Amino acid sequence: MGRVYNFSAGPAVLPEAVLQEAQAEMMDYRGCGMSVMEMSHRSSMFDDIIHETEADLRKLMNIPDNYRVLFLQGGASLQFAMIPMNLMKNRVADYIVTGQWAKKAWQEAQKYGKANKIASSEDKTFSYIPDCSDLPVSPDADYVYICENNTIYGTKYKKLPDTKGKLLVSDVSSCFLSEPVNVSDYGIIYGGVQKNVGPAGMVIAIVRDDLITDDVLPFTPTMMKYKTHADNGSMYNTPNCWCIYICGKVFKWIESMGGLAGMKAHNEKKAAILYDYLDQSRMFHGTVVKEDRSLMNVPFVTGDKELDAKFVKAAEKAGFLNLKGHRTVGGMRASIYNAMPVEGVQKLVEFMKKFEEENL
Ligand SMILES: *Cc1c(COP(=O)(O)O)cnc(C)c1O
Repeated sequence: MGRVYNFSAGPAVLPEAVLQEAQAEMMDYRGCGMSVMEMSHRSSMFDDIIHETEADLRKLMNIPDNYRVLFLQGGASLQFAMIPMNLMKNRVADYIVTGQWAKKAWQEAQKYGKANKIASSEDKTFSYIPDCSDLPVSPDADYVYICENNTIYGTKYKKLPDTKGKLLVSDVSSCFLSEPVNVSDYGIIYGGVQKNVGPAGMVIAIVRDDLITDDVLPFTPTMMKYKTHADNGSMYNTPNCWCIYICGKVFKWIESMGGLAGMKAHNEKKAAILYDYLDQSRMFHGTVVKEDRSLMNVPFVTGDKELDAKFVKAAEKAGFLNLKGHRTVGGMRASIYNAMPVEGVQKLVEFMKKFEEENL
């Protein structure tokens, strides 16, 4: 069958150039006679890889010197616990619940202190981002937590909430490196890499250095203290070496695409092709309010479950894979991450037009 257009929400499409490079280096990484999968994480070869990877990320995101970059395991979901364990000094935190991932983080935090839900969009199946200009932020909140791009529902904050001076913690798993960000706006900005940056099994947490202390909740496991990882250059134990290596290649690919500004233009172009079509289609329509639409995850429906299923099946046959929507939304979802080429979205829209003509 060859390569398909893969619209998976995660793990997801990676740049072909990156896969080819990894293939070329598989048997013998730069003359050392072994693959990166086989080398010691304490070797000078790997030391160069992790340092270059971090340096490239710092350059891409323009990360200030007072932030640490941590390559951690346990996925984004382990951060749901690590964040309160490390930050909940007053045992109070405020959560904005805009989807399943934010909800899971909020529920996890309840184990460690008082986790307040200060805003939510659950009343309308998370199809919008609530107004965050004047939130009831708790006076003693240790932080305010958001999920910036809601992978399942296809919403994205276009403006960060006013946290009234409190620390902002953000899960950017599904919009990581999709557009420029101002790292200084956050206490912690983190994401699982398998959505937009690399293979599964790692999360990158960018943490302001004053938040990295021994003053954590008393029962916090050693492995769940940011300080453990910061003090050991993300190598307290064996890191996910392969994932770090591939992420490094993706960072170079993004740089070659014009950095994050280039990535944003590329992503806006793709999203416009799909949303413009959805806005005038007589069969398909988007499920999210226009002003909160994600550039990365685009859910849409026909309004008829059987027709949705027929479309997903036909699309699969035509080489457009993983378009089935999340079970809580139904319908379809096209995840059009950084590595999805413009051509993939153009061809998908052509296919949708044809399906519409034939089935309306
Ligand atoms: C996928 C996803 C997660 C969960 O990631 P894991 O690495 O599987 O734990 C968390 N948050 C968001 C926004 C996601 O898209």
